[in-house]
Amino acid sequence: MNRRTFLGALGALALSRLGWSKPPAPLYLPEGPLAGGYPYELPPLPYPYEALEPHIDTQTMKVHHQGHHAGYVSTLNKALADLPAFQQMPLEELLANLEKVPAAQRTTIRNHGGGHWNHSFFWPLLTPKPQEPSLELQKRLSAEFGSWAAFRGQLLDTALRLFGSGWTWLIKLPSGRLQIITTPNQDNPLMPYAEVRGTPVLGLDVWEHAYYLKHQNRRIEYLSALWNVINWQRVEALLG
Ligand code: MN
Repeated sequence: MNRRTFLGALGALALSRLGWSKPPAPLYLPEGPLAGGYPYELPPLPYPYEALEPHIDTQTMKVHHQGHHAGYVSTLNKALADLPAFQQMPLEELLANLEKVPAAQRTTIRNHGGGHWNHSFFWPLLTPKPQEPSLELQKRLSAEFGSWAAFRGQLLDTALRLFGSGWTWLIKLPSGRLQIITTPNQDNPLMPYAEVRGTPVLGLDVWEHAYYLKHQNRRIEYLSALWNVINWQRVEALLG
């Protein structure tokens, strides 16, 4: 074994230990495809725009849902208009197989299909009725991250340090282990471009559009506010 082969083998071993070696099987949430079918539509919020006050303000929710999310939906539909084979795929499958999409539409579908899926996933993860995580969920996350406080710290710190626009995720790996990762822009852990692929169980939108109207550059204020409205029951259901 020469030096390069040895280092390659070492790298493969390290990657497989981290769960990076192979992409998981198609990733569906427990309730099946999340984002509807082509032509995609903007899903209604599961609560009124003002429901997350004072944690997330009404104006931000309106612009985020009616402006940003609606824009992703309409651009995704335009990109798919001439691709009948890809119109039939559940969005999860399309995003997991982006490398098969014709190059001319790939980036648009990556950005706007990702945008539609991510926001469809995000809204029900927030709740107007702040809730404590169940003891069972706290135990599960403590077992992975050391303690509930350590989980909170790692999640929010990862989101705080994400450079530019993107998302911070808690994902379930094919092994069942949990990991916190980030993706840039509207990428997500379903995509072949993710540094680690897995099933998302929580996603935090860390784009400035999610907080700039109220918090300007103070991302930490937004993250603390967002923490108060996380729907832990849904996180637990997604964990399975
Ligand atoms: Mn957003």
